[in-house]
Amino acid sequence: MYRKLIFELSKEGRSGHKLPQPDVPVKNITDMLPGKKLRHKDADLPQVAENEIVRHFTSLSEMNHNVDKAFYPLGSCTMKYNPKINEKLASLPGFAQLHPDQPEQSVQGALQIMYDLQEYLKELTGFSAVSLQPAAGAQGEMTGLLLIRKYHQIKGRNPKVILVPDSAHGTNPASAVIAGFSIKTIRSDSKGMVDLNDLERQVDENTAGIMLTNPSTLGIFESQVLEIRKIMDKVDGLMYMDGANMNALFGIVRPGDMGFDVMHLNLHKSFSTPHGGGGPGSGPVAVNEKLENFLPVPWIVKVEDRFTLEHNVPASIGKVHSFYGNFALLVRAYIYCRMIGRDGFRKVSEHAIINANYLRKKLQGIYDVGYDMPSMHEFVVSAEAQKNRGAKALDIAKRLLDFGVHPPTVYFPLIVKEALMIEPTETESREMLDYFADALIKIDREIDENPEVVLSAPHTTPVRRLDEAGAARNLDINFYKKSSKKPE
Ligand SMILES: *Cc1c(COP(=O)(O)O)cnc(C)c1O
Repeated sequence: MYRKLIFELSKEGRSGHKLPQPDVPVKNITDMLPGKKLRHKDADLPQVAENEIVRHFTSLSEMNHNVDKAFYPLGSCTMKYNPKINEKLASLPGFAQLHPDQPEQSVQGALQIMYDLQEYLKELTGFSAVSLQPAAGAQGEMTGLLLIRKYHQIKGRNPKVILVPDSAHGTNPASAVIAGFSIKTIRSDSKGMVDLNDLERQVDENTAGIMLTNPSTLGIFESQVLEIRKIMDKVDGLMYMDGANMNALFGIVRPGDMGFDVMHLNLHKSFSTPHGGGGPGSGPVAVNEKLENFLPVPWIVKVEDRFTLEHNVPASIGKVHSFYGNFALLVRAYIYCRMIGRDGFRKVSEHAIINANYLRKKLQGIYDVGYDMPSMHEFVVSAEAQKNRGAKALDIAKRLLDFGVHPPTVYFPLIVKEALMIEPTETESREMLDYFADALIKIDREIDENPEVVLSAPHTTPVRRLDEAGAARNLDINFYKKSSKKPE
């Protein structure tokens, strides 16, 4: 069905609001603002009635898939359900209407929430200090890498290389380059673990550190951390853990205890805060004693039962975000911690792991599950056999949309051909997992029995197969005015 753009709904003079007569003298805007601040012509805004705008946005919200609508097993993204109590409490005026420039004594509650959240994250990760500033996982990575650089600089060194296993998340090498390092790739062995021989060969005095995604993007727990630590210690190289997927490890192991020096967490994954439309997110960084002094300012300091902000930390790398990061998300993550409780966190991970293994077993034999290792919170299947029978991973993903569920991540990690990376999360029921597995099994059968239905999928979505990069590469915000061509 073709839905109109809001600009196409617009009718000159139509309006969704009516203001009462003013009870103060009416002044002309041109008398109040200097001429150069004034527009030359009116903003080109759509003019619509209230019901039109409500219907427009409701209809848009229904076109998109979301966690409130149905299953969303997007591997590595942890699209778990976002409890509505988070939203309700975070929108209380005492949180929502704070201004970051308010004096410290008037925001003691907000500072306490951030301080306590840092304490919870320290306890969950086994590290000695946390910064809540980074706005995303990738920004947490960059922050962690700047801390690593500072560590070496203070010791009078300038190593240039960060080692990144080929099973790492794609943001890792990108963040390392942005932080001014170059990359060496370490191979995975046949079990999906870091190949220790390759690591040994590549480590030298120019090595600043290694970034390990654990569990790796194959959903496999890297069990050689202590051996890797020994190899890195030979050159005083630091160990970064990409902990975006900490929801597999809560209450089971702590990266700080395993020998890592620094990690980030994704609150918009493991801690149930929404991912937003590309933001805002939150990617706190946790570190051990080696890196504590370099954390971004301001630090939240507790003296007796008062909280203050310390800006004067000479060794700090500075700021990575305005003020304190995305505060509203920190409130949501804090509420989540308080709801889940110390014992609950382990259950979160156990359920995430059970759900992933349950699904993997259901699909095994029909889809190639590749590395036959126990999964952590996610697993990767290869649709290569299906491709040889006529339908690629992409076709299968598109066909899944007709079953009302979001497809898994596809073509990632790069080391698995025709990869489908599936992360059910702990918040899904067994019935939903069964439904999803049945859909994938049905699609596998369709490839032989009715290939056209798979190859031309999706059939039930508002749009079919789009040029996924087109809108970004050929951005044209005036499209609606110029073109008489309607999208499908
Ligand atoms: C999601 C993810 C990231 C990046 O996090 P963003 O918040 O999207 O920047 C990094 N590493 C892993 C393993 C992830 O799953």
